[in-house]
Amino acid sequence: LCSIPEKPDLRSKQSYVNSSALSYKNSSNISSLEKLNLDGYFSFDNIEHAAKDFGNRYHFHPTAVLYPKSVSDIASTINYIFNMGSTSEITVAARGHGHSLQGQAQAHQGIVINMESLQVPEMQIHMGETPYVDVSGGQLWINVLHETLKHGLAPKSWTDYLHLTIGGTLSNAGISGQAFRHGPQINNVYQLEVVTGKGEVITCSEQQNADLFYGVLGGLGQFGIITRARISLEQAPKKVKWIRVLYSEFSKFSRDQEHLMSSENSFDYIEGFVIINRTGLLNNWRSSFSPKDPLQASQFISEGRTFYCMEIAKYFNSDESDLVNQKIEDLLSELSYIPSTLFMSEVSYAEFLDRVHVSEIKLRAKGLWEVSHPWLNLLVPKSKVSEFALEVFGNILTDSSNGPILMYPVNKSKWNNQTSLITPGEDIFYLVAFLSSAVPSSTGKDGLQHILTQNQRILDFCCKPNIGAKQYLPHYDTQEEWQAHFGPQWEVFVQRKSTYDPFAILAPGQRIFKRQ
Ligand code: FAD
Repeated sequence: LCSIPEKPDLRSKQSYVNSSALSYKNSSNISSLEKLNLDGYFSFDNIEHAAKDFGNRYHFHPTAVLYPKSVSDIASTINYIFNMGSTSEITVAARGHGHSLQGQAQAHQGIVINMESLQVPEMQIHMGETPYVDVSGGQLWINVLHETLKHGLAPKSWTDYLHLTIGGTLSNAGISGQAFRHGPQINNVYQLEVVTGKGEVITCSEQQNADLFYGVLGGLGQFGIITRARISLEQAPKKVKWIRVLYSEFSKFSRDQEHLMSSENSFDYIEGFVIINRTGLLNNWRSSFSPKDPLQASQFISEGRTFYCMEIAKYFNSDESDLVNQKIEDLLSELSYIPSTLFMSEVSYAEFLDRVHVSEIKLRAKGLWEVSHPWLNLLVPKSKVSEFALEVFGNILTDSSNGPILMYPVNKSKWNNQTSLITPGEDIFYLVAFLSSAVPSSTGKDGLQHILTQNQRILDFCCKPNIGAKQYLPHYDTQEEWQAHFGPQWEVFVQRKSTYDPFAILAPGQRIFKRQ
C-alpha cells in the first residue's frame, strides 16, 4: 500500500517496455492475426478509444482492437499468440466498459478485446428454487437488471453504478450497500466460462476447476477472460424506501452503521458518505436522491464542518407499505443521528439501483464526466477506522473534497475467502472511496496535482505500522508493491499465473507481471 508514486507524468508511456523495438515486432506479428478465420473482426484504425478509460489519466495505445462475435474468436486469437511463445511480445487486454482508473483495461501496442461486442450467450434466465441468469462477460449490469426484472427476479449484490460489465466487476469484486449481507458480486456467481492465457475455453465453478474459478474472481483479469457468468438471482422487490440521516460525530455514525449491519432483520442496503464543508446533502453528483422535504434538505449545508451521512434502504412490495413503515420506525428508533435530519424518499427498485446514471447524464451534459478521476479506494479495518477518520477528516481533507467520499462497513464473515480479492485481516472493515474529479488545467485545490498529493498523504497514513488497510481496485508500479499487497496470497497468485497464463499475455494494464 505504501509507496504508490501517483505520477501524472506516467501518461502515454509504459515504463518497462522498449517501445520502438516492441512496436515493430508487435505490428508484424499482429497483422499476421488477420489470417485467422473469425466470426468478428480486427480493427487497426479508429482505435484511440481503447487507450482511454474513466480515470482519464493513462493512455496506452494498442495496435489493434478485436470485436469478437463468438467465444472462439477470443480463444483462437489468444491461442495463436500463445503458440508464438516468447517470440512474440503481444499482450491482450479485455476491455469491458473501460471504467478503470489507471489503464487497467489497456494494452500498450497489443490487442484490446472489445468485450461488449460479444453478445453470446443471449441472456437466459433459469427459474426454480435457486434462480440464476447466464450472461455474456461483456454484458452490462444495467441490461441484466432490466432483463431479470421482466421475470420478477434480480441479482442480489450490486455496484453503485450499473453501466459496468459483468467481466469488469467480477475481475475486481463489485462492492455496494448489499455486500454486508450477500458479499460482493464475486460471491454471487455459480459458474464461469473462461478463456485462459493459453486460449483454452474452460467452464469452472466451486465443483469443477475450482482453482481457476476462485482465481478469476477478483483476479484482476490475470488468469483468463470471462466470456460467460452464471449469476445467482433472488425475488426482486418492487419498491425502495431510501433514507439519509446525518451525524456530526464519526463515532456515532460508525456505531450505528455497524449496529445495523450486524442484525439479520435490518435494512437491505447500508452505505454512508462524508460531507466536508459546504458539500450540501443534495449537491452530490452521486445520487438522484430527492427527499420528501427538499427545502430542508437543500438548506442543510455543512458550512465549515464535517458531517457523516448514513444512507440506508429498505426494499418492499406495494402491499407491505404499513409493515415496512413500522419496521423502519423501529430500526430508526435504535439510532443516534441528529433528529432533525431524517430525509426519506420512495422510488422503484430499478430507479434506486440505477441512481448514479441520472447524475452521469447531468454531468455529461455539462462536459464534466470526461475529466480526470484520481480516485482512491481503500479497505480499512474496523479497529483502525476511528484513527483513520481522525487523521483524514481532521487533518488532510479539512476544508473541501473534490467529489463524494463513501464510507461504510462490510462483514467478511459473509464473504468467500477463497477468491483472489485481497482484504484486511479483520472480519469487519470499511470501504472508503475518495471519488474525486479534477478540474481540467486547474493548479488549485480542485486540480489533479493537488488531489494526487492528498491521496498520497492518505496512503502514507495507511502505511503506518499496524494500520493494515488494503487498496481496492489496486494500482501499483512495481512487482514488489504487488507482492506486499497480496502478502501470503502472492505465492498462490503467481502459481495460478504460471498455470493459466504462463507468458503473461493477459491484462498487462494491471502491471503485475511482465510479458514472458
Ligand atoms: P474495465 O475497466 O473495462 O476492465 C477492468 C479490468 O478487468 C481490466 O483489467 C480488464 O482487462 C479486466 N476485464 C474486463 N472485462 C473482463 C472479462 N470479461 N474477463 C476478464 N477480465 C476482464 N466498483 C465497485 O466495486 N463498487 C461500486 O459501487 C463501483 N462504482 C463505480 C462507479 C463508477 C462511476 C465507476 C467508473 C466505477 C465504479 N466501480 C465500482 C469500479 C468498477 O467496478 C471497476 O472499475 C470495473 O472494473 C469497471 O468495469 P468495466 O466493465 O468498465 O471494466
